[in-house]
Amino acid sequence: MLDASAVLVTGGAGFLGSHLCDRLIKEKNEVICVDNFYTGGKQNIAHLLQTPGFELIRHDITFPLYLEVKQIYNFACPASPIYYQRDPVQTTKTNVHGAINMLGLAKRVKARILQASTSEVYGDPAVHPQPESYWGKVNPVGIRSCYDEGKRCAETLFFDYWRQHNVEIKVIRIFNTYGPRMHINDGRVVSNFIVQALKGSDMTIYGDGQQTRSFCYVDDLIEGIVRMMAGPADFRGPLNLGNPEEYTMLELAEKILELTRSKSKLIFKALPSDDPKQRKPDISLARQSFDWEPKVKLIDGLKETIQYFKKIL
Ligand code: NAD
Ligand code: UDP
Repeated sequence: MLDASAVLVTGGAGFLGSHLCDRLIKEKNEVICVDNFYTGGKQNIAHLLQTPGFELIRHDITFPLYLEVKQIYNFACPASPIYYQRDPVQTTKTNVHGAINMLGLAKRVKARILQASTSEVYGDPAVHPQPESYWGKVNPVGIRSCYDEGKRCAETLFFDYWRQHNVEIKVIRIFNTYGPRMHINDGRVVSNFIVQALKGSDMTIYGDGQQTRSFCYVDDLIEGIVRMMAGPADFRGPLNLGNPEEYTMLELAEKILELTRSKSKLIFKALPSDDPKQRKPDISLARQSFDWEPKVKLIDGLKETIQYFKKIL
């Protein structure tokens, strides 16, 4: 029977949420996965559906949800620019109304709640690498704002529910993460490049390819998330989680070409507006607080991810 000892994962049928469900089930938690299947799908959690202790609910978190749980991981929100820009009003609603609903639930049942925030709160950063103390440089009216400002407002709500209602909150800022179960048409750079390379089609570099990102393998990220949730009540974050190894998009494309032995050509397309020029986490706080740092090298993580896409293509 599921009761107040259960752990709720919103967005649990998505890329990160499904890996988190796996980890929580492995650690013998009862898990309630809530998802509206906007970008996630049952295929990501199909292997858990017969597992005792796992329950799936189709629900949109912009509507209230009444459950009895001890912990909440709030991961619901499309993470890929293509999808979060397709219905930007819904993206803001998911971030803001969704956060209010989940915080309201946490307040009612006295659950600890962790927010999946993002490096996008730093916008196109003027400080490099980005420490948690940096307030960011975000366009409030651009095409990325529904996501960036939505996530920033969600952080505000988390801290105000703590200050005003004493809710036990945790906020993590996730930097670009990749791995198996990324959606094939996700539109994010790692999945795009791998799928293009495996199909032998042109690899689409946006802009001149000199912009940088730092890519964290999903297993490393999940380890950091679980440590943060289990940490002391008075450690609320925000906490950066990501891999500080920084690459240009051209370097990433070349690595993927090499690993897939693909003959794909690189082609250059327009840079989307407000695309950050550089991004790299300062993870000193995670190192000091939880002795956490990523272990998986980009080459090894890419190999795993390439294997996954080979299987599903
Ligand atoms: P994803 O798109 O694979 O997963 C998001 C999940 O949320 C999907 O299953 C989707 O169907 C669900 N969802 C969306 N709107 C919903 C709603 N209103 N109600 C219920 N479910 C809803 O993305 P992901 O990469 O797994 O990202 C998960 C979380 O982590 C997101 O909050 C994202 O902002 C955050 N994040 C991810 C990254 C990354 O690199 N993957 C980086 C920073 C932050
Ligand atoms: N990008 C690219 N080609 C693609 C997809 C993305 O060059 O096919 C670039 C994109 O412009 C950005 C970087 O890769 O500079 C990372 O994009 P992604 O959407 O993965 O993440 P985000 O911009 O949200 O960090």
